[in-house]
Amino acid sequence: SSELIAQNFEKELKENGLENEVIVERTGCFGLCALGPVVIVYPEAAFYSQIKPEDVHEIVTEHLLKGRVVKRLLYHESIDGDRLKPLDEVPFYQKQVRIALRNCGVINPENIDEYIAFDGYKALTKALTEMNSEQVIDTIKRSGLRGRGGAGFPTGNKWEFAAKVKDDQKYVCCNADEGDPGAFMDRSVLEGDPHAVLEAMAIAGFAIGASQGYIYVRAEYPIAVKRLTIAIGQARQYGLLGKNILGTGFDFDIELRLGAGAFVCGEETALMRSIEGKRGMPTPRPPFPAVKGLFAKPTILNNVETLANVCQIILKGAEWFSSMGTEKSKGTKVFALGGKINNTGLVEVPMGTTMREIIYDIGGGIPNGRPYKAAQTGGPSGGCIPASEIDVPIDYDNLIALGSMMGSGGLIVMDDTTCMVDISRFFLDFTVDESCGKCTPCREGTKRMLEILERICEGKGEEGDIEKLESLARSIKDTALCGLGQTAPNPILSTLKYFRDEYEAHIRDKK
Ligand code: SF4
Repeated sequence: SSELIAQNFEKELKENGLENEVIVERTGCFGLCALGPVVIVYPEAAFYSQIKPEDVHEIVTEHLLKGRVVKRLLYHESIDGDRLKPLDEVPFYQKQVRIALRNCGVINPENIDEYIAFDGYKALTKALTEMNSEQVIDTIKRSGLRGRGGAGFPTGNKWEFAAKVKDDQKYVCCNADEGDPGAFMDRSVLEGDPHAVLEAMAIAGFAIGASQGYIYVRAEYPIAVKRLTIAIGQARQYGLLGKNILGTGFDFDIELRLGAGAFVCGEETALMRSIEGKRGMPTPRPPFPAVKGLFAKPTILNNVETLANVCQIILKGAEWFSSMGTEKSKGTKVFALGGKINNTGLVEVPMGTTMREIIYDIGGGIPNGRPYKAAQTGGPSGGCIPASEIDVPIDYDNLIALGSMMGSGGLIVMDDTTCMVDISRFFLDFTVDESCGKCTPCREGTKRMLEILERICEGKGEEGDIEKLESLARSIKDTALCGLGQTAPNPILSTLKYFRDEYEAHIRDKK
């Protein structure tokens, strides 16, 4: 219905002679998915939510022609009596700091001029004309940026490893194969601000000495694919991709590769095999991609959100970025808020924000005022954070200490009606489906764990099942070949750590 709303605006503006005075912009997601479709009227930034195509007439005739906001259509949190609150006073946005999401919901992602008007390609210009590759790497290293795709490896170090390897051909890859259930951070960045990813990849190419980039994007994201394709075409047209960028002699181009929905292709070695046209299966490391990656050449692989931070770091400096966050986790993190939460949507908060702030101050709490039970971070590779830990500042290290992980940023909230055994069964079912089958611990071990979990959920659990689950989980963690298998037991271990009584109750009180 968003496209119909935009078309209705264009029609109404024309009928009222306003077509040259008011511009209708189609933007990416502004984060508050629970209230979409959203229409924001500038310069007042009047925030209209849950708009229907038939509401457009009233907004045009009342607001645009008579200068009176249509109160009944405004998001109730965005108005205080008669005063329109600036967006940074609206509770959903108040505690957010938008770096990776800075342009999402603000610019038209299909128009490079709008990206340029918001400082687009300024960071690439600065890197190419005022810095050398060592300075770029040093800036990223000092900023403390860590990979936002899961493991949290320091981005600058990764770039430095690849830069130091001498080779005539190197590659920059972007991992846009977002596959966790409940995660849509990368999708929003690609759909809302594709040039930010292209620009960052070109900067990475300059830093390590690569002339070719690949974006491995899910084919199930057709809007992202369309907008990336448009953005690459525009950047080439403007001389910002291709040969001799900005007349500096630096060559860098980007191609898309579409993934076919295999979760394991998000694993870096499997992703590179898939780009090479082979079956997407992990391969042992070493050799690490920085030494021998895509087509056996030095390669860096960064996730979409990681790249979306790079241009701002180059423009505003390492100190600016590292002033946000915690000691070992700098900057911000984007979370896809879902499950039992009022404000389902996309949020970007400084590292170190607590789960309580995310759920209650930003997320608007749990529907029907039910109590918080747990939140799952990191999807099928992560774990849950129980109510007793709701005030722990969220960063890479604290999440690991809690038995979870940052993962890519899916955050699923659960209330007191959720069965935690069922949650771990759900995630394991996903992993079993997605295991590529190459190594025995993951291929066979996860299936055996799922059988036990299903038995417990069906009320047929037996004494000793919990211990079997624990021992299988530990050996899979220690022996699986890639990250998918090594982290598959996490949801079970984490729910066993905090909600063991639920497993025991299922077995004790069987039907
Ligand atoms: Fe494949 Fe699982 Fe082994 Fe990874 S751990 S290589 S996904 S079977």
